[in-house]
Amino acid sequence: MGEPPPATSLNPASSTAPALQHYSRVLGRYEGQQPGPLVLCVGGIHGNEPAGIHALQQVFEILQSTQPKMRGTLVGLSGNIRALEVGTRFIDHDLNRAWKPSRMETLESLNDGCAETLEQRELLATIRTMVRGQRGPFYFLDLHTSSAEGEPFACIGDTIRNRKFAQSFPVPVILGLEEQLEGALLEHLNNAGMITMGFEAGQHRATSSVSNHAAAIWRALVGARCLRESECPQARDAAKLLETSRNGLPRWLGVRYRHAITEADGFQMRPGYRNFRPLQPHEIVADDQIAGGIRANYKSRMILPLYQGKGDDGFFLALEIHPAWLATSRWMRRLRFDRAIHLLPGVRRIRGGHGQEALHVDRRIARWFLVEIFHLLGFRKRRIHGDHFLVERRKFDLKGPPHLEL
Ligand SMILES: [Zn+2]
Repeated sequence: MGEPPPATSLNPASSTAPALQHYSRVLGRYEGQQPGPLVLCVGGIHGNEPAGIHALQQVFEILQSTQPKMRGTLVGLSGNIRALEVGTRFIDHDLNRAWKPSRMETLESLNDGCAETLEQRELLATIRTMVRGQRGPFYFLDLHTSSAEGEPFACIGDTIRNRKFAQSFPVPVILGLEEQLEGALLEHLNNAGMITMGFEAGQHRATSSVSNHAAAIWRALVGARCLRESECPQARDAAKLLETSRNGLPRWLGVRYRHAITEADGFQMRPGYRNFRPLQPHEIVADDQIAGGIRANYKSRMILPLYQGKGDDGFFLALEIHPAWLATSRWMRRLRFDRAIHLLPGVRRIRGGHGQEALHVDRRIARWFLVEIFHLLGFRKRRIHGDHFLVERRKFDLKGPPHLEL
């Protein structure tokens, strides 16, 4: 998700997965016997990541042949078809950075000749068609792979609804990572009221990435309560597969630091930092022309180290989250502790962008522990401006909207 475009595009002929000549937008739509939730899965929003598409095709085949007892509907869509057909991450620009609210307002009339603008309009129109007439709740699973090897993991925006859904996936779940990436489809659908998750299945061309994605889709159907685990052997096998793939890694992690870079920095990761590697305080993890050695300031885990191509994110640091923290935070949010947060010194309420709750925090007055309180209450996304910073909270933390606004 966070990684940059590859230096060279992959040759589909060298793929271990079967190469497809044409991708249809709708990979499948399977309706259970009873009405219920809509689970929407998108594979290949990055065109060099077809594993999610192959996994969706597998799951639809099994659903058609076994006809399990199911509530609700599963829909599988292809993301960036034009890029998928040539096996490249994107043609003109990253389709998964194109869902910023400012761009969405003008999308219908945009005439920039970009392949991704056409893709985005088609994909959005298909999503609208699929949700029309559905009562929800609505779930969205975004299927990705990465250039680096590593254990599968999930990313969610920190809402209580997303966390509950994530419990069905026995992989490391990272809170607050996708909030660092602006313009993701997941962000757009989350803000519209869907329960959302991004899933990273492993390396782009590994066959295990297809089975990990298929496992994630089965778990999504369980998490959305479309399928009962006791009635679906595939869902039980999926839990076992993902649990084994976790390799003893922590179940919940929170992003605490993003190392932003520019091309001029000459940033270079030191070798050997795979995803989730534990770091010691003051360990030098990378070098650049400004600081020389870049240190991890505290005991943490390495997330998405940048080893190839270009990007704005050098790496992220995450801390393990204790289950007691999750429980405390859930109760604080249910009891609406946030209503009193502006009484803390240096904190004042302001109007956030796009209907989100936001706080203006005076760094000269506010104490360090405030960041912890903000995270407990679901306020993230810090933007620092000199002597103050802003935090915002996602909409629909505990409850979805009466209607989806896409
Ligand atoms: Zn991706």
